[in-house]
Amino acid sequence: MPTLTAEELAAAEALAAVFRPGQRVCLTTHVNPDGDGLGSEVGLAHLLRARGLTVSITNPTATPARFQFLFEELPGVDRTSEAVKEIRRCDVIVVLDISELGRLGMLAEAVRERGVPVACIDHHVSPGLLPPGPRYVDPTASATGELVFEIAKANGWVIEQPAARGLYVALLTDTGGFRFSNTHPRTLRIAAELLETGLDPEGIYLDVYARAPEGRPRLLGEALQTLVVEPAIGLAWVTIPPGAVERLGLTSDDLDGVVEYPRSIDGVRMALLFREVSAGRVKVSLRSVGSVDVAAFAKQFGGGGHTKAAGLAVVGSLPEVQGSVLAAARSYLSGNGRS
Ligand code: 5GP
Ligand code: MN
Repeated sequence: MPTLTAEELAAAEALAAVFRPGQRVCLTTHVNPDGDGLGSEVGLAHLLRARGLTVSITNPTATPARFQFLFEELPGVDRTSEAVKEIRRCDVIVVLDISELGRLGMLAEAVRERGVPVACIDHHVSPGLLPPGPRYVDPTASATGELVFEIAKANGWVIEQPAARGLYVALLTDTGGFRFSNTHPRTLRIAAELLETGLDPEGIYLDVYARAPEGRPRLLGEALQTLVVEPAIGLAWVTIPPGAVERLGLTSDDLDGVVEYPRSIDGVRMALLFREVSAGRVKVSLRSVGSVDVAAFAKQFGGGGHTKAAGLAVVGSLPEVQGSVLAAARSYLSGNGRS
């Protein structure tokens, strides 16, 4: 177990002190929840249930099919379909894997006006405003799941296998399968401790990555047809053909990993994925290689994330957004990719 500084220990204890047996707690994360958001919630849900709290997971958008397996040992806990109602009657809210109200989508208002402590556990660099409550935020953590692990350890909470499974999925997905630059020694030490509860890493790999609907590789095929590379400045991007996600019966979750293909080209320093999410609104995923800071780039458009993985969403047609974001990216890269 990595040692915590006195300050981290105090923060972990202050966060745990907000939970009292018998309370109702709502756990929530960003729109289009990912493996880190959901895995951290599942891990924390088991830990808090063991402390006598009633836990609901209440997210702004639905749990993707490939993460449903995490809920097999938490029947009835995913209350996302009744999220606003649950938030209105809870005693504590925990926001995981984000620090901004804006990324809570349709739940932002309910969380803002609830008037109960809003704890936050997050590893993003973008600071954001949330209602008052204890914070455990560390941008050097590979995943929010790593921080849930630290909070548990600091407070002497035993991590049993079902909680470990959620936290392992959090680490696995946010590090791209323990490959990205955020795979620190600390990450692998925590992963090792989680595996020691008897988890089956291959089974988890299959659930997360190898039980795809047929449409997922077909969508990848369509996306790769759109690849454009500007080798001179190290820019590459792909565009999801409008309507393709819906036509193939998929969801945004099925786009996970597609942006790694433009990023994988030799010499590319910044990779982008464009997708029209609704008429007149475009989401852009950004990835970088080397020293290019895509979180700082995303900020120009009101987005955020991490140095090497960030995102933004802007109003405009697909060609308009593509034009303005690519122009900004060219100028950013010619200035060496730092703000
Ligand atoms: P992805 O491209 O996989 O959706 O997201 C990559 C990273 O960027 C994640 O850490 C995510 O939280 C962040 N991110 C994605 N979209 C947005 C956005 O619209 N706003 C902000 N602030 N961050 C985003
Ligand atoms: Mn995360």
